[in-house]
Amino acid sequence: MDKLIVTIDGPSGSGKSTLAKLLACREGFFYIDTGALYRSIACLFSTKPTPKELDKLSVLWKKVNTEYHLFVSNRDMEPCIRGEEVGKNASIIAKLPFVREFVNNVVRENVNRGKYVVEGRDVGSVIFPEAQVKIYLQADLKERATRRAKELHIQKDIILDKIKERDEKDITRKDSPLVIPEGAHVIDTTNKTQEKVYTEVISLLK
Ligand code: C5P
Repeated sequence: MDKLIVTIDGPSGSGKSTLAKLLACREGFFYIDTGALYRSIACLFSTKPTPKELDKLSVLWKKVNTEYHLFVSNRDMEPCIRGEEVGKNASIIAKLPFVREFVNNVVRENVNRGKYVVEGRDVGSVIFPEAQVKIYLQADLKERATRRAKELHIQKDIILDKIKERDEKDITRKDSPLVIPEGAHVIDTTNKTQEKVYTEVISLLK
């Protein structure tokens, strides 16, 4: 097989990045985080970008030590994109169809021969509906808030409402809302260890 695509979709804090990173690290998958691109666009443009401005950007996911980082116009975006405020702004610009088209094209252009794990909100439903393995992760809101709070070193109560707000935006938007892709394996990660989820996914790959 010259191209293997595993897609991971699901809401914030459901465990997508953790699973994708494990697949990259242990199974040698090239890892593409589509959310990082929405976050980067939100970071780079304080108001909404124009299609022309987006077209000028060069986009590349590159391995830095053991992790994959997104580089936009040669700048490593990782240090400035992970906060919840950036996530909120990302979900605002993610409503714009020309932004979605830009992201989808860039992601498809970056997938060539080899094994890819691609995570986001519409990867299995819109970007790669033909993917060999599609996964949809879900978890209780409280548990997702606890995980994000730990990651961002902030209080759970503060993040819970923000996650709820972002879920609402992602589920109700007109263009490419968050859905369970057709043919996806749904895994509820509430009360499951990373290893348990990883083992379930590995069994799907065999
Ligand atoms: O996954 P992450 O939290 O980094 O994504 C940030 C935001 O980017 C999401 O809340 C969503 O609004 C948007 N996004 C999207 N489609 C994707 C990936 C992310 O709309 N495939």
